[in-house]
Amino acid sequence: MKHNSAHFIQLDPALLQDLFQSGKRKDFVDQVRQALRQILVKLQVESHYDRVTILVKREPCYRALNNTWEQIGPSARRQKWYELMDRIIQIAYSTRPYCLRCGACCRLGSPSLHLRDGDLLARGMISIRQIYTLRRGEPVRLNIEGKLGPLPSELIKFKEDQEKGYCRFYTETQKSCAIYENRPSQCRFQQCWNPEALEEFWREQKLTRRDILKNDQDLIELVELHDEQCNLEELHELFIHLHNTGDITVLNQALEILRKDVAIRNLATTRLNRQEEELDFLLGRPLAEIIRAYGLKVERDQDGVYHLAEDR
Ligand code: SF4
Ligand code: SF4
Repeated sequence: MKHNSAHFIQLDPALLQDLFQSGKRKDFVDQVRQALRQILVKLQVESHYDRVTILVKREPCYRALNNTWEQIGPSARRQKWYELMDRIIQIAYSTRPYCLRCGACCRLGSPSLHLRDGDLLARGMISIRQIYTLRRGEPVRLNIEGKLGPLPSELIKFKEDQEKGYCRFYTETQKSCAIYENRPSQCRFQQCWNPEALEEFWREQKLTRRDILKNDQDLIELVELHDEQCNLEELHELFIHLHNTGDITVLNQALEILRKDVAIRNLATTRLNRQEEELDFLLGRPLAEIIRAYGLKVERDQDGVYHLAEDR
């Protein structure tokens, strides 16, 4: 997996456009210098500038591009520019192969839990009120292009700050992790200078609700009932059908599934005495929230009737 240069460098888009169009070698060299400074600021190693510059100048892809910049066309310049930027980020990281505990990864979101993290719950280091479930079929951004698709299998995650999306254990004032000694395995494998470490670890078996609930038969039955009655893959198919055909009759079917979601959540709190804060773990996020990813929301009209409407 490569580092994505878009997260690191914010050069003026108009300036970059000119750079690709004009094809002047001097401008290319100036912009590489500017991008390199931005990368080093981001990595908090500005003092590595001279060292990294030497390494970049030795780099075959830099030398090749520097030699051919004026001969190739704008689209080839653009493509090779971004390849070079990704490579420069790797080179810069190679001069800083350690964690600064800067918290940048904690601010991007929360970790998913793996089977080996089950112990954190068993020992009471975290509670089910602090985690939530992304159920199979939930619409998520599946790849770097950000394409929306159904999640292939369930994930358990730490809850996130609703406004900022930070991991809930990240303390902003101290820029630190409130459970650092007991942080889950994904955080231990998180090495921004070496994305392959996390990519390999990611294949490990994930923790599921059934692993956590073990022998609690009432709750396992609740989860199974909800998965069956409020199937997210079925909901996804309905919305894809709506998108492809414009057939709005599927909205009634979808609304019926949303009603069941509300009913089962009520059942969990009233009959099984579960607390509201536990429901995002037991039953995943409410469907009324999930459908916003499809550009829809629940509305109540003046007669008190619920229906699905476009979420502008
Ligand atoms: S691993 Fe996370 S906390 Fe450590 S330096 Fe990288 S972004 Fe910062
Ligand atoms: S658990 Fe701690 S280390 Fe892991 S993302 Fe949250 S705040 Fe960061």
